[in-house]
Amino acid sequence: MAKITLDNLAHSYLPNPQQESDFALKELNHDWVDGEAYALLGSSGCGKSTLLNIISGLLIPSQGRVLFDGKDVTTAPTADRNIAQVFQFPVVYDTMSVRENLAFPLKNRKMDTAEIKRRVQKVAAMIDMEAQLDHKARGLTADAKQKISLGRGMVREDVNALLFDEPLTVIDPHMKWELRTQLKKLHHDFGHTMIYVTHDQTEALTFADKVVVMYDGRVVQIGTPQELFERPAHTFVGYFIGSPGMNLFDAQIDGNVARVGDATVQLDGSYAATGKTQLGVRPEFIRLSSGSDGIPATIRRIEDVGRHKIVRLDVGGKEISAVAAEGENIAADTNRITFAPGGINVYADDWRITPQGAAA
Ligand code: ADP
Ligand code: MG
Repeated sequence: MAKITLDNLAHSYLPNPQQESDFALKELNHDWVDGEAYALLGSSGCGKSTLLNIISGLLIPSQGRVLFDGKDVTTAPTADRNIAQVFQFPVVYDTMSVRENLAFPLKNRKMDTAEIKRRVQKVAAMIDMEAQLDHKARGLTADAKQKISLGRGMVREDVNALLFDEPLTVIDPHMKWELRTQLKKLHHDFGHTMIYVTHDQTEALTFADKVVVMYDGRVVQIGTPQELFERPAHTFVGYFIGSPGMNLFDAQIDGNVARVGDATVQLDGSYAATGKTQLGVRPEFIRLSSGSDGIPATIRRIEDVGRHKIVRLDVGGKEISAVAAEGENIAADTNRITFAPGGINVYADDWRITPQGAAA
């Protein structure tokens, strides 16, 4: 196991990158703490695989260094990094049996036969393939083959890190939950540093201690699920995490007061905000009211999603979402919204800012 340090790392697939937009991965400094389970979350094309492949050594970065426990491995081949990586699509040896596939990484390291047998049996149970151990991989479904790939990734106990690149994409939905649970258990039992790439927020939030959110080649926030929910560092995080995502209101900010349209909103401190300024308020913190206090709003429709209701409102021509409790009565004369205390984040040019004199 190892601490993985990214030092001034950046990558462009172009031979002569000229500007920031030429970089698939924008400059990044980060320590992946030894033994933590991370999720790397972001939409398709944001640079997740690029980052993972740099860590595993499949890709040499165009700038910066990768260190394992302080040792520079930037140009070291994958084999020297002692890493297990599982990809989106199965990588199995068709002519070998399931057992031989699972044993392969161990045989390669000349482990003794009894120990190989023990490990293979254990992993086969984790991926629910004990009954097929002596079947040839050829002829198995894509789903089963991917389980073998996962098993091969999990079979070694002595790796520096385990990297998973959207490994459950081709897995049947019922099995997804089961395998994710097994991965969590593996992390619990062995404490490997794990990086799990996904574009699915539920997967990220249930798997990881820390979620690394990427947007357009940049790491925009690293935090616990709770931090991402309560204090999104970037408007993208607010929008991407949560269902529905955070609402954004264009606002003029003057010290501790924000103006949204003709309404005035009191802030929790004094902000020096320049550029495009917005308030971010999650649907859970929007309160419906009637009368003359708050921001004018009109209910468009109400969606009952079981555990609660989602109220869609028109605020100044823009759709805003509010969450109401399942049993909550939504007054027909609702014509305003207000914000619950503690629910307002202030953004300048999409980045969250803190009040003057306050700690971040
Ligand atoms: P993700 O895994 O988040 O979907 P990728 O890391 O695969 O994103 O891709 C990030 C960006 O780099 C995308 O714009 C993609 O088109 C580009 N890219 C990925 N691989 C290559 C490559 N081998 N050559 C050129 N561009 C690439
Ligand atoms: Mg990818």
